[in-house]
Amino acid sequence: MTAPRLTGRTVLVVGLGRSGCAAGALLRRHGARVLGADDAGRDAIERRWRRDEIDPAVSGAAFDELLTGPTWHAVAPADLHAVVLSPGVPPEHPGLAALRQAGVPVHGELEWASRFFGGRTVAVTGTNGKSTTTAWIAHVLQTAGLTSPALGNLGNPLANEADRLPSDAVPVIECSSFQLETIESYQPTVGVLLNLAPDHLDRYPDLASYYAAKARLAAQVAPDGAFVTWTECPEGLAWRHGGRRLLFGDPVAGADAWLAEGRVRVRRRGEVRDLLAVADLFLQSPPNLLNAAATAAAVLSLVDDLDAVAEGLRTFRGLAHRHQLVGRLGGVRFVNDTKATNVHAVCAGLRGYPTPVVLIAGGSGKGEDYAPLREVMAPVRHVVTIGQEGPAIAAALAGRVPTSPAVDLPAAVRLAASLAAPDATVLLSPACASFDMFNNYRERGEAFAAAARALGARED
Ligand code: ADP
Repeated sequence: MTAPRLTGRTVLVVGLGRSGCAAGALLRRHGARVLGADDAGRDAIERRWRRDEIDPAVSGAAFDELLTGPTWHAVAPADLHAVVLSPGVPPEHPGLAALRQAGVPVHGELEWASRFFGGRTVAVTGTNGKSTTTAWIAHVLQTAGLTSPALGNLGNPLANEADRLPSDAVPVIECSSFQLETIESYQPTVGVLLNLAPDHLDRYPDLASYYAAKARLAAQVAPDGAFVTWTECPEGLAWRHGGRRLLFGDPVAGADAWLAEGRVRVRRRGEVRDLLAVADLFLQSPPNLLNAAATAAAVLSLVDDLDAVAEGLRTFRGLAHRHQLVGRLGGVRFVNDTKATNVHAVCAGLRGYPTPVVLIAGGSGKGEDYAPLREVMAPVRHVVTIGQEGPAIAAALAGRVPTSPAVDLPAAVRLAASLAAPDATVLLSPACASFDMFNNYRERGEAFAAAARALGARED
């Protein structure tokens, strides 16, 4: 494949976060003149780079010129070859209107980066479980001997690697709906849709628009590739897709990878193969068992050696901040699921929870309805609420389970620990974003672990 010719051309990158910087650096490496634009001022941008630990060798080297504040709204369309839009910037941003009208193409980092890599890729999307499953698929492919970095939203944008990967590499890319909205020429070899539930309603006019962005993934799967989805996801089952379809979930509904009788099984070329015992997986929470099946389905068309697939499934230890055990105190377990930033993730995690739970929930809202939480309160003995959405969550749970507010996360952990029976779990699973109290979900998870340690909880 030939990389795009950019020498002498000017590209405007809008939104200077992690993927904007990576895209800028990539385009500059290939000869473009890159203007970096952001509505924030220079100080705020540099604070963001420090906070998100964006490498100055990338961020500083990514742009020939920085346009900060609204100055970029006045860039003349005639001077531009293209616009690269960061996932954090809404496509309907008023600053883009004149550029679009003048016919300047506007795409995201994923679309641009993919033009520099001609090999096979796996793209993973869904409302929840993307990061875990992306890392798990990459781990299985690596176990099978492939060069398969986990890229995308997980932390390292494709743009950082696209032009440096060996041509036989099979990168696994976590894709958000914001990245998928603007793909056009990118064709994943395997496209995975894990699940769909309301999220990001602060960013999309309605649910249909959010789902439509995700549907781009299915439509773009390469003709000789595979679209992988869940047997319980009606939208995914209905979507038009490229390639053949592989399913995970319920074998009665035609799954190609599933869990039954304590075993992980796959069907390949009509033959059922037993991969390993479910008990041998490190990750045992119900959503992660589903992610194991999704992973098995996703690698089916890429790896012949099913023993390597079984080994990769068995040896994956999971990611921090997703149902992560951070300490024990007496019989009480402290589990950090700070990454559960929407109602669907909390519900999936609580269904079938193996111990009684004191739940800590709340934070900043995304326009979601909390009523579905009522349906999954069976293991929950008490809910300690925090942050801006605390009162709304308490109201949604009124009459179903006792709730108490706490002023901050350390106070919530102390209160939850005092309410927990000796066999219970204190679970941080907030159903909300963290921005009212923290810079990001990781800081919230670390504050939770620190508060548990301050009470005497220990990892062992
Ligand atoms: P994402 O990258 O999509 O946000 P993560 O792997 O970071 O996904 O997990 C986010 C949250 O979703 C965590 O609370 C996790 O426990 C939960 N989760 C993981 N897999 C699933 C699944 N298949 N269905 C529902 N929730 C899930």
